Amino acid sequence: MIAEVVVNSAAKELNRVFDYGVPNNLDVVVGMRVLVPFGYRKQNEIGYIVKLKESSPYKCKDIIKADEIVFDEEKLEIAKWMSKKYFCNLSDAIKLLVPPGTTNDVDAVKAKTEKWVSIIQGADLALIKNEKQKRAVDFLLDNIEAPIYEIMEYVDVSVNVLKTLEKNKIIEFKENRIYRDPFKSKNIKKTLPYELNDEQKRALESIDIEKSKEYLLYGVTGSGKTEIYLQLIDKVIKNGKTAIVLVPEISLTPQITDRFLSRFGNIVAILHSRLSKGERYDEWQKIKSGKSKIVIGARSAIFAPIKNLGVIIIDEEHDSSYKSETIPKYDVRDVAKKMSELYNVPLVLGSATPDVRTYYKALNGDIELLELKNRISTQGMPEISVVDMRNELATGNKTAFSRKLYYDMVETIKKGEQIMLFLNRRGYSTFIMCRDCGHVVKCKECDVSMTYHMTENKLICHYCGKTMTSPTICPECGSTRIRYFGSGTQKIEQELKKYLPNASVIRMDVDTTKGKNAHEIILNKFKNENINILLGTQMIAKGHDFENVTLVGVLAADSSLNIGDYKANERTYQLLTQVAGRAGRGSKKGKAIIQTYLPDEFSIKAVKEQNYKNFYDTEINMREKLNYPPFCDIIVAVFSGTEEEKVKLASEDFYKKVKEYFEVYQPAPAPISKINGEYRWRVLIKEKLSDDKNKILSDYLESFLKTKSDIKISIDVNPNNMS
Ligand code: ADP
Ligand code: ZN
Ligand code: ZN
Repeated sequence: MIAEVVVNSAAKELNRVFDYGVPNNLDVVVGMRVLVPFGYRKQNEIGYIVKLKESSPYKCKDIIKADEIVFDEEKLEIAKWMSKKYFCNLSDAIKLLVPPGTTNDVDAVKAKTEKWVSIIQGADLALIKNEKQKRAVDFLLDNIEAPIYEIMEYVDVSVNVLKTLEKNKIIEFKENRIYRDPFKSKNIKKTLPYELNDEQKRALESIDIEKSKEYLLYGVTGSGKTEIYLQLIDKVIKNGKTAIVLVPEISLTPQITDRFLSRFGNIVAILHSRLSKGERYDEWQKIKSGKSKIVIGARSAIFAPIKNLGVIIIDEEHDSSYKSETIPKYDVRDVAKKMSELYNVPLVLGSATPDVRTYYKALNGDIELLELKNRISTQGMPEISVVDMRNELATGNKTAFSRKLYYDMVETIKKGEQIMLFLNRRGYSTFIMCRDCGHVVKCKECDVSMTYHMTENKLICHYCGKTMTSPTICPECGSTRIRYFGSGTQKIEQELKKYLPNASVIRMDVDTTKGKNAHEIILNKFKNENINILLGTQMIAKGHDFENVTLVGVLAADSSLNIGDYKANERTYQLLTQVAGRAGRGSKKGKAIIQTYLPDEFSIKAVKEQNYKNFYDTEINMREKLNYPPFCDIIVAVFSGTEEEKVKLASEDFYKKVKEYFEVYQPAPAPISKINGEYRWRVLIKEKLSDDKNKILSDYLESFLKTKSDIKISIDVNPNNMS
């Protein structure tokens, strides 16, 4: 028999399969991980079987070793579909399907064969042939069972001794892993389901758990969506099936996961990037073995090896983290839709501020719309006010806080209630500029301004990571009048100390949350010690449910409006609504104050009115007029290389080819025209993609890659950022 194998380390142009012979003693199936000799150096490489067949036209080498089944046929189909849809290698797509941290690690395969050993009941010990075998068996008689490596070490025998014993039916090998448990230290109380209100009941009953269908659960924050997920999952589990729940990486906080853990206990597996490699691997294995029936995780958890899938839920479906920015540049909502079809299960998208594209589909009937109009809490929605910061400046207030926000903060602290202050930035200042000549320090390699980090007193390029000490003299004109621009959380923290000296403040941003449980520690401290103010970036915007927070302040509402992107309005609306929704989630009435220099923007007005539909109507009209998604797809092809002329020529060649079929813009330097010393040119296509049109692009890619030029090309469909 011959196996078609996808090899992991294959270079870009090797988007193909290789034939290998299957030795008679190997029992293989599609989806199995194998070790194969590969390349002219005949190094052993990890690969995955994607097809079995009778014969091959080539003279093939044999598979060395077969390990475990890593994916099923459906997942393979998804990987193939992804490679077409997102213009990536099959091997890149397959990497998402394998246990984290094992893709390029040949040793990982070995580690997996470190099974446990025990003596077979009723084995004939008379068959023991030599001293070494006896030592091993004696050890096992004493210890009942032990991992292979332990026996080898303690009684000094080779693995072959054990293998002979196994062959002679004296001992047996078995999987007997002890799982590392990331929740071991937690003490979680069990919760019971709530009696659903009528809206919730109607929504839950509308979801058919027996068939493939997409739903949008649209409900304001605090309207009880999560409770619906919990009860939906309960139904699915009682039906003998399992569930995948995706949440944005940033909101994968203990608060969300605890709600699932406290309802379902240890059948919940959690996958996120802050788990150690070992923990993640173990969670993966727990899912695979069937011990875990519910997987909660960020984007890539969709590929968890769960069996018997019964439902997929994507919470906060509008979140930008659902679109991958690295190869494969997939949108997990598309992948989930495909899975819903393949496994014949429902897909539930939930949001208080749906993606404009999703809501458009719901209005067109492609997705069933389920709506929750009311908050559970009798307090209703928070009261939102907008403050025009131009007036503050004009009347002499140069602080970061408007008078209204300041007085409300004072009042809130007096009442013993808590405040969240939201700033959509990180670091102390975003960039530094010379006051005399206007010079801004940029990264020479990347053509972007360097970001100042106060803690290290350094300038850092956020693209290539290059650092330099912050200059005290302008490199252009020699002036010493250097100004730090923008206000980051650290600067606000200092202003708070100055103007509210008695208030306790805790800061949550990228800089304070580097440690493994840093999020949890900060949030617990805020809650348990009744800290007055939680000051933070995007990461405080979502998913936090604090009883005692009654005031939310947004300090720089506009920063997301100035990002030069057709999604700027949508992002602003979503972000501000999420943040405002953090106020008054308990029994006390909440208040949100939004500070802006652009109070007349329709997205900010819609936030104030708490009216998604008004926002949507204006936005969708604009998108239609300008032909933006959902009316087309935006495909960005970026060419890069060290010689600018060649990069330019490649992009022009591409432009000429696709112009015949697509609406396409002239090649131009990318907004970030140089990263890490490589020049970048961009070609932007606006076209509704279809299978046929995808094919035109992938054919071009294939022929491009065959030329083996020193130019790289990357294609991104509907990217998050236009840079
Ligand atoms: P969302 O996910 O829409 O933000 P949640 O599911 O978190 O809303 O619900 C908001 C709050 O109301 C939570 O504290 C939740 O436990 C509670 N809750 C949800 N449904 C009910 C219900 N039917 N009865 C009482 N409380 C509920
Ligand atoms: Zn200068
Ligand atoms: Zn750089």
